[in-house]
This record gives sequence, C-alpha cells and structure tokens, in this order.
Amino acid sequence: MSILFSPAKIGTLQLRNRLVMTPMHLGYSPKGEVNDQLIEFYRARARGGVGLIIVGGCGIDRIGNAFGMTQIDDDRYIPGLRQLVDAVHAEGAKIVPQLYQAGRYTHSALTGKPSVAPSPIPSKLTGQTPEELTEEKIKEVIDSFSNAAKRAQTAGFDGVEILASAGYLISQFLSPVTNQRTDRYGGDLEARMTFGLEVAEAIRKAVGPDFPIIVRVAGNDFVPGSNTNTESRAFCQALEKVGVNAINVTGGWHETQVPQITMNVPPGAYAYLAHGIKQVVSIPVIACNRIKTPELAENILEEGLADFIGMARPLLADPELPNKAMNGETDSIRPCIGCNQGCLDNIFRLKPVSCLVNAEVGREFELGPIPQSAQTQKVLVIGAGCAGMEFARVATLRGHKVTIWEESGQPGGQLALAAAPPDRQDFGYLANYLASACQKLGVAIQYNVKATSDMILTAVQKEGYNRVVIATGARPIMPSIKIEEGVRVLQAWDVLLGREKTGQNVIIVGGGAVGVDTALLLAEAGTLNSETLRFLMLQHAETDQELYRLLTQGSKKITVLEMVKGIGRDIGASTRWSMLADLKRHKVSCLDNHTVLEIRADGVLVESTGDSTQKVIPADTVVLAIGSCSQNELYNNLQGKLENLSIIGDAAKPRKVLDAIHEAYAEGIK
Ligand code: SF4
Repeated sequence: MSILFSPAKIGTLQLRNRLVMTPMHLGYSPKGEVNDQLIEFYRARARGGVGLIIVGGCGIDRIGNAFGMTQIDDDRYIPGLRQLVDAVHAEGAKIVPQLYQAGRYTHSALTGKPSVAPSPIPSKLTGQTPEELTEEKIKEVIDSFSNAAKRAQTAGFDGVEILASAGYLISQFLSPVTNQRTDRYGGDLEARMTFGLEVAEAIRKAVGPDFPIIVRVAGNDFVPGSNTNTESRAFCQALEKVGVNAINVTGGWHETQVPQITMNVPPGAYAYLAHGIKQVVSIPVIACNRIKTPELAENILEEGLADFIGMARPLLADPELPNKAMNGETDSIRPCIGCNQGCLDNIFRLKPVSCLVNAEVGREFELGPIPQSAQTQKVLVIGAGCAGMEFARVATLRGHKVTIWEESGQPGGQLALAAAPPDRQDFGYLANYLASACQKLGVAIQYNVKATSDMILTAVQKEGYNRVVIATGARPIMPSIKIEEGVRVLQAWDVLLGREKTGQNVIIVGGGAVGVDTALLLAEAGTLNSETLRFLMLQHAETDQELYRLLTQGSKKITVLEMVKGIGRDIGASTRWSMLADLKRHKVSCLDNHTVLEIRADGVLVESTGDSTQKVIPADTVVLAIGSCSQNELYNNLQGKLENLSIIGDAAKPRKVLDAIHEAYAEGIK
C-alpha cells in the first residue's frame, strides 16, 4: 500500500494519506445541529486512519436540503461544527464539509417550500415541479454557498467541497435536460457552466486564496441527453481556472437507470471517469464508487487513474479499514457488501443510516468499545450462520469462550443462498469475514456436527457450558396444494446452491427476493460469459445488437408467479429497480396477482386474483420460493431443561440479514 498511504496535498492542505471518506448523507442531525451521534461517528472514522473526511452534505440554505441534514446556513451552527472539527483533528485526520443544495431533488414536504431549479422540469425523484430561479434568486443561492464556506472556515474546517454532481442543483444547471433557460445561465455548455463557476468564484472570494476547495462532479450523468465525461472534462478545466484545488469524481445522477453503487456494479467500474478528468486537469482527482478494498484502491493509484481514492460505505462497514490495511491486516477488514440495506435504503425511508454488517454504525456515541464481562462464560452456539457467528464474535470480544457446532461443512448458513445469483457474491464475503474473525478470536467452530438435545445437555453437564444459544436458522416451506406426479418440483434453496438442476421451462412460485434471485440465476444459463464477450468485442465479431441479445437471452424460459401485487417487494428500494430491470432484460415473465391452485403433470394451474380466471402455464420444472419457517425444534426441546438458553436469528423468526446481525450483536454484548 505504498501509494494509498503516502502523504499528499490538496492545495495547501497536507493529508496523511490518499484515502478520502466521501460525503454520505447520514440523517443524524434532526435539528440541523452537530450532536454526539455525528461527532462520535466521524471520530471513529478519523481514528481508523482515513486522511480526509468530507462531511456530507451540509445544507447551505433551507430550500434545498434533506431530512436530518447537518446545516451550515446560520452562524449559530458554528460552535457545534467546531466541536466536530476538533474531534476529527484530534485523531489526525482533516475534515471539510460538503456544501449541499439539492434543487429539484428537494421534497417540499421537508422544507415547507417549493423546490427551486434552473427550469420548472418535474423531478423524477419527488414527482414535484420546482420553481424556476430568477436571476435575483440565483444571486441569493450563490451568496448562501459563499456564506456557508466562510462559516466552514470560521469553524476550523480544512476546506470545503461544493456538490456539483448526482443531479443536485449545480448539475441541474449544467445539464441541458434540466436547464432550458434562455438567459446567461442557459444555452450551450459554456452558459450552463456559469452558475457552478460563479459559485466556485464566490467561495474563493469569500475564503481567500489558500483555503482548499474541492468540487464533486458527475463523471457522466448517465441520463439520456445529459452530460457525459466530455462535458464534465470541460467543466473541470474551467473549475481549475477559477481556483478549485481538487475534483471528486462520482458517477451518475440519482435518477439514472445505470446502477452506480449496487452489488452488481463491478468494483472500481467507474474509475475510468476519474481518469478521463485527470487527463485534462493538473489538480488532484479523487476516484469513487464501489472502490471497496485497499488493494483495488492501490491498483487505481498505481495505474495512474486518479490521485486520491474516495470511500464512504467501506468506512461505515469498518472504520478501521485504513489502519488495518496499513498494518497488513487486510483480511481482518469487515467488508461493505454493497447491499445498501442499512445505509441508502434507510435514507430512502427517511431513517438514519445504519449498516448491515456493522451494528455499531450511528450508535458509536452510546455503545463505545465492547465492554469486558466481569465473569467469563463458556458458551455453546448451535449454528454458524450470520447470527451465530456475529454473536460468537461479539461474545468473545466481551471475554467469553465460545464454541459453535455447525451441521454443514461450511460457515454462513443462508448467506450462501444470498450469494448464489449473478453479481451477488458480496454476501459470501460477509460469511468469510465472520468465519475468519471468529477463528482469529479463538472461537472453536466445529463443522459437520448435527446437534441433538441430548448432545447439548451432555455437553453442558460434562464441559461446563454456562450458556447455550440456538442459531439454527430456517428451512423453506412447502405449499399446501395438490402436487401431481410428472413435473419436477424443487426448492429454490436447492437450485440456488446448485444441489438441483432445472429443465428448460421453469416456473418459479413466489416473487419475493428469493424468487427473483433464483430467476436471475437461471436466466444467466446459456448467456455469454464476460471473457467471451471481451473476445468477440475486440474482434468486432458480432454487432452490438447481437452481443446484447447473446448476453441477455439464455437457454431457459422462466416465469415468476406472485400471489399479491408487485415482484420483489421485500428487496430494498435502492436495489429493487435494478433487479427488476435485469428480469426484464432477460425476458423473464413476471405474473403477479396470481394464486397457484395446483401443480399438475403438465404445469401450474393459476387463478388471477382480479377476475378469478384460471389457466395452466406449462412447465417442466416448478421451483418453490414461497418463504421459510424457523428451525426451532432444538430450542423448544431444551426449554425448561437449561437455565441459560436463548434463540437468535432466523431460528427465532425468519428475518433479514441486517436484523439477524444486529440482534446477534445485541445478544452478544448482553
Ligand atoms: Fe455497505 Fe450494506 Fe453497510 Fe451500506 S449497509 S455500508 S452497503 S454493508
């Protein structure tokens, strides 16, 4: 890690390394003020070794902000902001606020006022039409930016970042899609850049020549008719000329239909956007989006694609990532798995950010370090799924001695199912991390042990276990419908784990996450792999159209049946849309509002919930994905026979991975 952890400068700002915590909306400041939750969150990241923290975003006014946002639009926030700065500085990191104005992405319900934008084009995010900014109002917004920057300087921040990406106000001015003005702020690219450049110039004037200014830009809007890397390069060159000190390059807008940070985006996929900009400016460029490991970060720097690396979610997952990487302990890093379930999905639900893999996120101020137990206990855990292992990890850190009995030959339980579909392998990294963390802490995981009540009672008696925790997970359920001989009926779990093979004409019963995952796995069968695609593309062997067809149309005909309205309703908002798009792309038929009445020799008899019409859909294989039930027999048998017995995870009640991990953490620190 010689480049990543080498000191570097942004303008006059000396940084201890090239790792930047990019801004992330946290929702921790319900009153706009800095509080202990925010301070301790960032203190932990600074202590973890990151070079620069960009606090994102900080509202520069009251017409363009978001829920729970830290505000920097009034002098009364300065003392709190100074406390935050001091906490981060005390840990050796530098800190800048991101100056945030959302324009037409602001929902009027949050501000009590209509949102504003260059032109009154309805927002796809809010469904609302913004008010067009007059030239007088534009001047006011520019003043709000420069006043906020001045406040940042007064509070002791080390610079500021201007938000000019992701479809927020400045990018709305830059784009011909959202800027249809005919005054000096609209028209050709040069005119559309005027607002962003005036913001940068006003800030430079307010803070003086030496205060670092970073601008976050979209490397490509990924919106039809909007700016690409070409326009972004021109904007960045102009920014350099007005005295901006670094460019932070992210991907597309929030409304893009090209996934930006979901699990299916290949790691480092968008580093080329930063490289495009780096080629035309001489100020430092920060590359971001799905750069989740120090090894990948180092590669990007080594290849000269960027000067700094931005990470946000990986530092949520593990604030100690930089220190661990510097100490050569990369295999101890708790991985961000790109699920968005605790972070982005929470923000969409107007809830503060948490993290699926790290139950401490946002709770640093109330939890502190895991406390040592006054008395060491001997604990037996049954099941090495995510709940069992997270419990074991935390209980061991408390000082207990933990043994796990696992029925199968590998750790992770249902994480293996979640990791099975294409582009979902990150769930497997979580299983690996938990197993490796347990192993390093000295948790004894014994595989291929099928626990019975008698075995547990004997072990408690003979080996002196003080506590038994049942984490035996769940099993798939069978429907109570007539199933005729003839058609192959399989459980989705068996298909996902490769234990069973389907025919060519497959019906999946159940359109929840497991059904969608199974459909996507089967839809890949017979499509081009990436190696072949690369070869064919480089040889110009097929047309783009034919390559697309070969990539998306496999050998199987797949139908997903769902009883109620909507497919994939239990998938988080930030991921669901792209999975539904994948189903469409692969021509998977999705039929919601249809109840399965019978599985017949020739297919599935269904009834429409709307008009009660019935029909048989032919199939040679029926895959069941209708849910799971707790595997709690051991717990039920042992109740009343053991003093200190508890049940966690899916064994208590089927739940999402996030809930299983968080509850296991809570049980572990008890
Ligand atoms: Fe990463 Fe998921 Fe945690 Fe978000 S919730 S930081 S995506 S692991």
